Amino acid sequence: MTIEKLLIANRGEIALRIHRAAHEMGIKTVAVHSTADADAMHVRLADEAICIGPPAARDSYLNIPNIISAAEISGADAIHPGYGFLSENAQFAEIIEAHGLIFVGPKPEHIRTMGDKVEAKRTAGALGLPLVPGSDGAVSEVADAKRIAADVGYPVIIKAASGGGGRGMKVCTSPDELETLMAQAGSEAKAAFGDDTVYIEKYLGNPRHIEFQVFGDGNGNAIHLGERDCSLQRRHQKVLEEAPSPVIDAAERARMGGIVAKAMADMSYRGAGTIEFLWEDGEFYFIEMNTRIQVEHPVTEMITGFDLVREQIRIAGGGALSVTQEDLEFRGHSIECRINAEDPVTFAPSPGTIKAYHPAGGMHVRVDSGLYAGYKIPPYYDSMVGKLIVYGRTRESCMMRMRRALEEMVVDGIKTNIPLHQALLREPDVIEGAYSIKWLEEWLAREAAGDTGA
Ligand code: ADP
Repeated sequence: MTIEKLLIANRGEIALRIHRAAHEMGIKTVAVHSTADADAMHVRLADEAICIGPPAARDSYLNIPNIISAAEISGADAIHPGYGFLSENAQFAEIIEAHGLIFVGPKPEHIRTMGDKVEAKRTAGALGLPLVPGSDGAVSEVADAKRIAADVGYPVIIKAASGGGGRGMKVCTSPDELETLMAQAGSEAKAAFGDDTVYIEKYLGNPRHIEFQVFGDGNGNAIHLGERDCSLQRRHQKVLEEAPSPVIDAAERARMGGIVAKAMADMSYRGAGTIEFLWEDGEFYFIEMNTRIQVEHPVTEMITGFDLVREQIRIAGGGALSVTQEDLEFRGHSIECRINAEDPVTFAPSPGTIKAYHPAGGMHVRVDSGLYAGYKIPPYYDSMVGKLIVYGRTRESCMMRMRRALEEMVVDGIKTNIPLHQALLREPDVIEGAYSIKWLEEWLAREAAGDTGA
């Protein structure tokens, strides 16, 4: 089935990214938007635009009946969910398919499996991925929890099976603490996610976050597109990402990539996916799989020349993978800085009207953003308003280019985190790639202490 008209069930830079891929394939686009996004760039560029509700996401971008109606009214034959919102909602995918439309994403059962962290871990283990040592599935009895913790050694982390966004996790350093926190974790998970299932794993002290991009055709063929290092995080939110990881060499990439690609082939995974690992002392530990395109996908595109969103649409339309593993080459280095409308020091959101806008340019510089002069950033959504992505033949030249691009970039009228990125790219640890998932928060704490003279 070929796709002729694609409905984009998202907003912001990813909606624009999807529109661009579709138009390059000769596919018409339908933008659906809330009343707050009527002036968004992708809404202006799409062939058709339909308002699906008021600003609150639950009434618009999460409103399944309105999105399906928009698809029927416009005659779209496929829906791309982007990231966030409904992208990992198995029921949304099922409803789309029940209406005879194409969901640009994985099979609903795979979204469901990977959305339940206990199930995801069990599946990953069965597929041969290395796991963080811990409980075999859910734990409900304190006695079991203590036995497992003694086995793997303290500290341990209690995690909610339905958790997400870094929420619902508790670190325990002793059996006594485990007893108190087990009860707390269960009731908090119930309140936050409607599910009190928790599980336990060993708490890694100083890991990196390294994730593999995978792609499957749904018929047992799959490839990997190498890894991304996303260790620079604040409150579990990625800030700056790079590919390849400074600590992974070609042999390790091929070995681990082979394992993840085989796992995806064995489950007949369809579409784009990301397998996230913590990495410590040369070992990978699976934490979760995201069954969608990710914010940081462009760094992979820069070093492979492979258009991930185009491939998503191609596979959804029934096409075969456009490359084999042997066709893929990893060349050079890429870094992405997420540009957020926020105070670079306090991180308070800074919505408002863009007075002047000049994106960076030049060789090997890519800006994915719907910003333009006069655009009013609505206060209702995520603060990320764009991404600056650069490529260099070496990691050093890539960092030089990113510094140059950050200097050029003008986003006037609001506060952005551009100064934070500039400061990060001056830090010796960042320059050497010597950072873990803890590094950024520790650095921010030191900077804050320095500012007050403490
Ligand atoms: P979520 O779905 O809520 O994002 P993840 O399982 O992906 O949950 O974990 C989020 C973050 O929590 C990780 O990136 C890491 O920083 C931290 N984390 C998770 N599990 C562990 C662990 N076993 N040891 C140390 N840190 C962990």
